[in-house]
Amino acid sequence: MSRPGNYLADALAGALTQAPANLVVTYHYIRPANSDGVTGITPERFAAHLRLIRSSYEIVPAEEFCLRREQETGLALITFDDAVRDQFDYAAPVLEAFNVPAVFYAPMRPYADDGSDHWCTQHLLHALAQELGWRELERRVVRLIGDPACDEAEMNRIYHYEVPMKRRLKYLLAFTLPAGVAAESLRAINTTIGLDASDWYISSDDLGALQASGHALGGHGFDHVPYTTLTPSQQESDMRRAHRRMTELFGDRPRTMAYPFGRADETTRRLARQFGYIHAFTTDDRVDGMNIDIPQGVLA
Ligand SMILES: [Zn+2]
Repeated sequence: MSRPGNYLADALAGALTQAPANLVVTYHYIRPANSDGVTGITPERFAAHLRLIRSSYEIVPAEEFCLRREQETGLALITFDDAVRDQFDYAAPVLEAFNVPAVFYAPMRPYADDGSDHWCTQHLLHALAQELGWRELERRVVRLIGDPACDEAEMNRIYHYEVPMKRRLKYLLAFTLPAGVAAESLRAINTTIGLDASDWYISSDDLGALQASGHALGGHGFDHVPYTTLTPSQQESDMRRAHRRMTELFGDRPRTMAYPFGRADETTRRLARQFGYIHAFTTDDRVDGMNIDIPQGVLA
């Protein structure tokens, strides 16, 4: 077994106690500068991550990772959640420069063809916070829905990685309010602002291009809500819609899945197997790229 270098172990220190035998890293936003609504890492930092990871691991495609991970060590998988446009604009060129494969976990609501809204609530939250500022958005949401009680211990546990200012609204929308109420309140706010989902997500043509160039696409639910908040039949219908739409758009092939919010229960795991996903990742299986520190000197 090849032991990952100390350098990588140091970099991973924020996320893990030791470098894992096989590494899965997850990214969300990659962009030159953060906004009030969106925190990501810069393309330069992402490139430094790839250099570092590649020095200790073999970066392989998703399906290959799943086939080899039980028997081998020293494998790494690069994953992106949510198919946000940043990833195509800023991460894909870096992947190409390094000639490294990745998997893009795309929720399917942005690609719905039934005339329904294309925003996933969580990403509309990011986009509105970017537009209005976090405080103003929270003020508008509370004006619509009131100020419901919230389990602060659970909130802090789930959103430990998030700055305190953002935790309450995120937790309210994803875990306290019924999904429909959360979605409607943000959509109501957006009616006067008019943010367009097609500006936020990678287009289906560009997702197809990523797949054609050797990257994989993977399941990430339809509505991008935590499956653990849904009834078994709601879980089934969401996963069925997601699986069907991805197959229609991008063909029928072996795919992995990342549970939205990384959360699953026994029903979710059973459904993922039933729909043929060859593997489904939780949050615990993956290292958040936000937590990989690169020493300043290495960034140049
Ligand atoms: Zn996600």
